[in-house]
Amino acid sequence: MKALVYVGDARVRRLDVDAPQAPEGEVLVQVLQAGVCGTDMCIVRDERPKAEAPMTLGHEFVGLRLDTGERVIVNPLLACGHCRACGEGRAHLCERRQVIGVHRSGGFADRVSVPVGNLVPAGDTTAAQAAMADPIATGLHAFRLGPQPLGPVAVLGAGSIGLSVLFVLKRFGVRDITVTDLSDERLAFARALGADVTAAGIEGSFDVIYDTVGTVSTRKDAALKVRAGGTAVLVGLHSADLAMPAGPVIGGERTIKGSFGYTPDEFREAVGMLPELDTGWVHTVPFEEAEGMFTALLEGRLPPRQVKLQMRMSAA
Ligand SMILES: [Zn+2]
Ligand SMILES: [Zn+2]
Repeated sequence: MKALVYVGDARVRRLDVDAPQAPEGEVLVQVLQAGVCGTDMCIVRDERPKAEAPMTLGHEFVGLRLDTGERVIVNPLLACGHCRACGEGRAHLCERRQVIGVHRSGGFADRVSVPVGNLVPAGDTTAAQAAMADPIATGLHAFRLGPQPLGPVAVLGAGSIGLSVLFVLKRFGVRDITVTDLSDERLAFARALGADVTAAGIEGSFDVIYDTVGTVSTRKDAALKVRAGGTAVLVGLHSADLAMPAGPVIGGERTIKGSFGYTPDEFREAVGMLPELDTGWVHTVPFEEAEGMFTALLEGRLPPRQVKLQMRMSAA
């Protein structure tokens, strides 16, 4: 079967690979559409998370269960079910956490074997909406980690996670939302999704700031520009460092929270929100173009208006 494989050496290749067999407790899913994520870029650039080449990437996908024909969205986070985090309902923090498309074969392929418990019915969604479940769930989790905001909030970055956080904030009726990004085209998408203020940089006083970029400077902005007593929720993983002065964090009792992934319940909840999602910022290409597009993304050659890239693997 066809697959887009991380082959090491900062490259992906379109390859013919063996079709998977489903072991006990798993089913085969025929992939319909799969999203490319910043995480995929990090893997290929040999940053975190680490994947063993050769690895078929892709953790944001929708497909058909081959045993029943049902349209399903795959929750890519696999947990052991036995450790302390799993016992607390926080499977995303499992000590033996694995991610489909990172640690085992993912959705940039015709077929994937998936544990039955990680399948969620796709409901009344388009393929583009369905393949957005992972970023929307990530946004939902970030929202839930912060105090439920009363006053102004800010989202740093209008990439797919930033726009997903914005979508969730709007869904929960949060008002006075500022979104920052260096790209005017991305900020236009943020305004279309309901951002009240859009700007290149952050100005003002905020209850919560969500950093979906994760550079040293956006982390500093998030932690130091929330009001005293406010919370910075760090989602973006761009840089490895968290460098900032301690004074304002301690003296202003500012809270810094890391946010990773989502719980299984949040993933299901996010799937329920998908029919409302405007996917005007999702750009879909046929799989045949995937290797070229992926390489263009890696080299920064894609126009910024293509916030989210998805591959069409097969027709429904
Ligand atoms: Zn992702
Ligand atoms: Zn566990």
